[in-house]
Amino acid sequence: MTFHFSPLTSQNILEQYWGFSSFRGEQEHIINAVLEKKDTLALLPTGGGKSLCFQVPAMMMDGICLVISPLIALMKDQVENLRKRNIPALTINSSMNFFEVKQTLQNAAYGDYKFLYLSPERLQTKLFKEFLPALNICLIAVDEAHCISQWGYDFRPPYLKIAELREELPHVPILAVTASATPKVQQDIVDKLELKDCRIFQQSFERANLSYSAFHVDSKINKVVEILKNVAGSSVVYCKNRRETQNVAQLLRLQHFSADHYHAGLTQEERSRKQEEWINGRTRVIVCTNAFGMGIDKPDVRTVIHYDLPDCLENYYQEAGRAGRDGNRSYAVAVYQSKDTLELQLLPDLKFPSVHDIKKVYQSIADYLDIPVGLGEGNYYDFDLVEFSKNFKYDIHLVLNVLKALESEGHLAFNESIFLPSQIRFSAPKELLEDFENGHPELEPIIKVLLRTYEGIYDNRISVNEKNIARLARITPEVVKEQLKQLQAFGIIEYLAQKETPQLYFLLNRAPAQHLHINNEAYLQRKKQYAERVEVMLNYLDLKTCRSQYIAKYFGEEHPKKCGVCDNCLNAKATRLSEAEFSSIETRIYESIPENGIDIKELLPLLNGIRKEKVWNVLNFLQSEKKLSINEKGYVFRSLS
Ligand code: ADP
Ligand code: MG
Repeated sequence: MTFHFSPLTSQNILEQYWGFSSFRGEQEHIINAVLEKKDTLALLPTGGGKSLCFQVPAMMMDGICLVISPLIALMKDQVENLRKRNIPALTINSSMNFFEVKQTLQNAAYGDYKFLYLSPERLQTKLFKEFLPALNICLIAVDEAHCISQWGYDFRPPYLKIAELREELPHVPILAVTASATPKVQQDIVDKLELKDCRIFQQSFERANLSYSAFHVDSKINKVVEILKNVAGSSVVYCKNRRETQNVAQLLRLQHFSADHYHAGLTQEERSRKQEEWINGRTRVIVCTNAFGMGIDKPDVRTVIHYDLPDCLENYYQEAGRAGRDGNRSYAVAVYQSKDTLELQLLPDLKFPSVHDIKKVYQSIADYLDIPVGLGEGNYYDFDLVEFSKNFKYDIHLVLNVLKALESEGHLAFNESIFLPSQIRFSAPKELLEDFENGHPELEPIIKVLLRTYEGIYDNRISVNEKNIARLARITPEVVKEQLKQLQAFGIIEYLAQKETPQLYFLLNRAPAQHLHINNEAYLQRKKQYAERVEVMLNYLDLKTCRSQYIAKYFGEEHPKKCGVCDNCLNAKATRLSEAEFSSIETRIYESIPENGIDIKELLPLLNGIRKEKVWNVLNFLQSEKKLSINEKGYVFRSLS
């Protein structure tokens, strides 16, 4: 298949490749701006269809579109999706070796590919820079663009290097997309990507069919049960950790709900199965950590309940937004106790450990991994967080937060989801191989499969997949592993079995403790910003006005409307009074207050038959008008005037 400048319209492309009949929201405007080669920033809510905003115009341009994305899982997902639609796409990820990366870049440069997905770290590698002039890049798409801002909630330092591409590619437009960026973060994206004469599109953050509410409760589980009894249909319940997902799912099953738990600690098979059961409705409630939801597109979720709170409104909005994609009435509910808000308040000090602690833990890590000062750069290390913390008597959360800090300072990368696939290289000379095969006929088939399937395996370490080899050699994966180990023992191959332990990747050589560079001012500034984001989340819980409006304003919308369906809007409606009602309640109150005042506790029962909220409404009004007063003992007096 070859792609030349296409005379098709964007509408044709949408129909032909995606089978969709029309664009949604701002998609078409964004696509037009890109086609005019304007630098563009697009803010669309999660599920709003950001990918199409660069995929469609790229299909209409000559050349390949570079897509920069922070997570391997997201890249894989999108590339598979494109391939399903017969659009040739490539991805480079951290599990590939040099040879594979080179092969991929060669394909990108000389094959007919339309998309190349990569993580921002990759841009800085020598290999990529070598190939850059050969790549005919038509568009640079920056997905999850908020990652570039240290004021945002998911800062990733390598994003800052994207702008360097501009020097090499001065005429290639950039499209930056994100679901959530406050005005400050938006400005930062424009600055850091050096977007020129930038068009900004922002789709409204309002979701008319979504009713937000928050409940301060004594028992969270009772509240969840009540909600699930009142609102039928699929539900997501978010919890803060793996253990809690199990507990809550268990409690719900005891109440006869069909509920299952989900978190990143489960095997890939378990996760797919649980996800599948929930998507097709066999499981009604999925109780999960925030690992759940990425890339899931279930339209009929009726409730998203937060059993534990995220630490910022950006995450809350994204997670809550998984409810009601189909446009029908849905509920986003946060349930919390005083303990939860207290925990949130303590977070800034926990998440941003002191520079002293950072240096101390850094030293211990380097000692633990046996890295001498001045070495380590570019290496992966197995890192067992639990064992390390135990050995060195650190609190595991402190270690995690120190790793995070070291990550944002560009010293290392720690990613539980980076795992390296098995790798193989032939180490025996070619001329010995035939002899060996004659002597070990049982190993001949697997040798043949390796040589036939993996080009370059004689000279390079190649990533292999045991399941694949098993299929081709018609033996079980267990036997494959066994035979590979034998070949290794005979010195025929070098076999590095797959690693599922988390990897620590050193971006810089080990620094002596006193010289470990932490940009103190920026670090403290980030901590302050973080504390402010937590504050916004806390304020949201306590809010007495429209929740949807609060969220939209936070994301920089100028005049968002009241939603009319959140708890606060409904409350206001229920307690709104007509003039006649007001004066009748006013009269009842006046008649019930004796000359020398009355305890409010005695007054309220005298007004039975009137909604308590309404009584309070009128009482508050009369008090503010100084027509009555309530003293510190709770006594109500009519004013003398
Ligand atoms: P985002 O990145 O904004 O969260 P995606 O790009 O992943 O959203 O798109 C979410 C879903 O919406 C995908 O399944 C996509 O195919 C679908 N989608 C996007 N645009 C359209 C459209 N115009 N018509 C129908 N479906 C669309
Ligand atoms: Mg996306």
